[in-house]
Amino acid sequence: MPPVIKTAVIINGAGLAGSACAIRLRQLGHTVILIDSARFPRRKLCGEFLGPDAMPVLEALGLLETVIKQSGPPVRTVHLYNAGGNPLKIKLEWLRQDYPYALAVPRFILDTLLVERAKMLGAIVHEGCTIQEGIYSSDQNAFELAIKPVKSTEAMSQHLKSSILVDASGRNSNLATTIRMSQQAESIEKASSSGDTKQIEPYVGVQCHIDITNESTDLNMYFFPGGYGGIQPLTNNTANLCLWVIPELAKLSKQNFGTFLQHTLGQNKAARLYLSSASASEAIKTVAGLHSLHQVRSSSQIILSAGDALLAVEPFSGFGMSHALQTGLLAANCIHQGLQNAQTYEQIRKQYLLRYQAQFELQFQVMRWMRPLLKQIFLQKLLWPVIQPMIPAIIRFYR
Ligand SMILES: Cc1cc2nc3c(=O)[nH]c(=O)nc-3n(C[C@H](O)[C@H](O)[C@H](O)COP(=O)(O)OP(=O)(O)OC[C@H]3O[C@@H](n4cnc5c(N)ncnc54)[C@H](O)[C@@H]3O)c2cc1C
Repeated sequence: MPPVIKTAVIINGAGLAGSACAIRLRQLGHTVILIDSARFPRRKLCGEFLGPDAMPVLEALGLLETVIKQSGPPVRTVHLYNAGGNPLKIKLEWLRQDYPYALAVPRFILDTLLVERAKMLGAIVHEGCTIQEGIYSSDQNAFELAIKPVKSTEAMSQHLKSSILVDASGRNSNLATTIRMSQQAESIEKASSSGDTKQIEPYVGVQCHIDITNESTDLNMYFFPGGYGGIQPLTNNTANLCLWVIPELAKLSKQNFGTFLQHTLGQNKAARLYLSSASASEAIKTVAGLHSLHQVRSSSQIILSAGDALLAVEPFSGFGMSHALQTGLLAANCIHQGLQNAQTYEQIRKQYLLRYQAQFELQFQVMRWMRPLLKQIFLQKLLWPVIQPMIPAIIRFYR
């Protein structure tokens, strides 16, 4: 048996939530091991719209200036076009006056900046590795984990022991099923693995970078029968195109780009105009089988989870990345306080969930309430002309 390495905190997943958590914990003086099955930089399907709530977190992590330098010009306005092609305008200063802008930043850049900062601050990062198996003993308040390289030729497996494990391995996390729990947690574990599998989103994410002439840096979102999607300019002549569509439309992305556009965004006359000169500059990516949006995953009743591993956010909201960064930071702060007060893992996990609910529940209630609107084209046509003057007030309430 290889020697057991004792560490303070192990984080599974070095995406936004995991890296944010690692950076914060290093800032607070903890030993951190970060594990990711991928190697950075890696591509990631995303709308690449980093909303205003991400900015204070990046600032706290010492990364805001660097991310701004690597992003396109700040995005100050979002236009939402209903299926009839009529716009609604949302100024980001209505969301936050202290950070009245969003950023357009490719994920292979943003995620790499975060993981590199974690390394620079002293986090031990195992890229290309996964947790093969593990045991949690609540008597000893300890996890014992075996981690192994994804490609078995790369290196030997390692055994780690820690009182704290964070799951930040994203929306398809199955970490809870990899860890064997001591008796009292087993019933929760069973309930969680059966509960989550029933809740899979029918929609498919589709994304690629495109060449296009942009007249402004604003984000344009368009609804159409079968889904919605956004075009986020990255530079004067490139943009990120990202859609959330029914599977029948997603299948068309395997055909040529023009056909796919014609049956999706092309159904919206405002998008048709904007996209007339667009061409794909990379292969189209798709992602399906996402866990239900806006539902806290039941595996978080076992393992302290952050970002999408805790709850996957509606892509429309442009809030998933901020949520991941915010929960990573919150998890680190709760772990720090818990360890200082000699709390058990269970106590820290519960405290974190309480603080999470207090911080986010209202936002998620509003998003759940808004979801039907995203699909009801008739309702959109009816509401769009009357809703514009009410938007600042709605945002004030929802914030
Ligand atoms: C179609 C679509 C468009 C979106 N557009 C936007 C947008 O414009 N703006 C926005 O804010 N949000 C958007 N989101 C949401 C956003 O992408 C996520 O909320 C965000 O990436 C969550 O970050 P995370 O760190 O929790 O997870 P991730 O970014 O998924 O990171 C998880 C990490 O865990 C690693 N991992 C996975 N499995 C394992 C394993 N078994 N072992 C070890 N490591 C593992 C992965 O390699 C990855 O690095 C969008 C989502 C979708 C589906």
